[in-house]
Amino acid sequence: MEKLIQELISLPGACGQEHAVIRYLYERLKDQVDDCHINGLGDLIVTRKGAFDGPVLAVSAHTDEVGFIVKKIEKNGLIRFEKLGGHDDRILLSQKVIVHGAKGPCPGVIGTISAHMQRFDNTSLIRNYREMYIDIGAEDADEVREMGVSAGDQITWDTVFTRCGRNRAYGHAFDDRCGCAVLVKAIENTDFSKVHGTLTAIFSTQEEVGLRGAEAAAASIKADVALAVDTTAVSDTPEAMMDNTLALGAGAGIKIMDFSLLASRAVWTFMRDIAEENGIPYQLEIFTGIGTDAGALHQAAGGVPSGVISVPSRYAHSSIEMIDMRDFENCEKLLEAFLYGMKDKSQFAFI
Ligand SMILES: [Zn+2]
Repeated sequence: MEKLIQELISLPGACGQEHAVIRYLYERLKDQVDDCHINGLGDLIVTRKGAFDGPVLAVSAHTDEVGFIVKKIEKNGLIRFEKLGGHDDRILLSQKVIVHGAKGPCPGVIGTISAHMQRFDNTSLIRNYREMYIDIGAEDADEVREMGVSAGDQITWDTVFTRCGRNRAYGHAFDDRCGCAVLVKAIENTDFSKVHGTLTAIFSTQEEVGLRGAEAAAASIKADVALAVDTTAVSDTPEAMMDNTLALGAGAGIKIMDFSLLASRAVWTFMRDIAEENGIPYQLEIFTGIGTDAGALHQAAGGVPSGVISVPSRYAHSSIEMIDMRDFENCEKLLEAFLYGMKDKSQFAFI
C-alpha cells in the first residue's frame, strides 16, 4: 500500500492533465479486470465482475490534484500562473513547485519578498495569487523557452512522500491519490469469487474543478449504488473553528453529509454496520466544507443511492497534506467489506 501511494503521488496530475496517472492505472489494472477503458474526458472506467448476480456498485476516486497552470512568461523569466482547484492564497508564498515543461520537470519556487523588505511592505496584506510569480531560475524569457516551458504547462507541488511519527506521512496530492490507491487495492485484494454483483471503478478526472469527470463517467454507467473514496479534512488541530468531530488516526470516515451530498441513509448505515461487524475503526462525518465525486454520482442516471468513504487528512490542498497510514488501510478494508456485504440492490432502496 505504501509503495503504491508513493508511486501515485510522484506522478503529476493537475486538473485536466491527469494523463500520467491515468496511464499508470491503466497499465497496472488492464490485465486483472473484465473491462478497462478511457472515455473522452480521460476517466478510466474499470469493470470487475463478481461470481454471483447482484448490484452494480460504482466507486469513484479522482486522479487530479490541485495545482496550477503557466499563464504568462515575463521578460525577466518569472512565470505568472493560474490556479487549478481550490487554493488558499495565504499559503502559496515561498513554496517549492515543479513546472512540467515539454523537456521535462523544472523545479522552482513561488517567490516571496525577503524579510529585509518587510519594513517597506504592508504586513497585514494577503497577496492575491495574481500578484505572485514562479521562479525557475531562468535569467530571461528566452531561457524559460529553452527549458521547454510555455503557457498551458501544469505546475504541481514539489514535496515527496515522507514518513513521520509512528504511523503518519506527509506529501502532496494525497487528495485523492489515497482514494485511487484504496480503489486499486480493493480491486486487487478482493476475492471476486465471493462477490455478488459488479464493481465499476471510476478513476475520474477534473474533480477539483467541479466533479466534471465523474459527471461524464456516471452518465455512461447504470449503477445501483455508488461510492466516492476521497480524503476529507479533519478537525483535530487547535484552531478556534475546529470542532474535533473528525480526527487523524481515528478510522475510516463514513460520510453522512457534505456540501455536495446527503448520503443515502441506507448506504451509510450499511457501511456503519459492516464496519462494526468487521471490527473496522470508523468515524461518522458531517462536514459542509467539502464535496466529492459522489455529488455527481448520486444525481446521475435517474438517481443513485450514494455514500462516501473518507480518508482523513490534515492540511488538505496544501503541499504538506498529512495522513495516518492506519486510516488508509481501514478505508481499504471497509471498501472490501462493502463488496462482500452487498447482495441485492434492495439493500440500498429508499424505503
Ligand atoms: Zn479530493
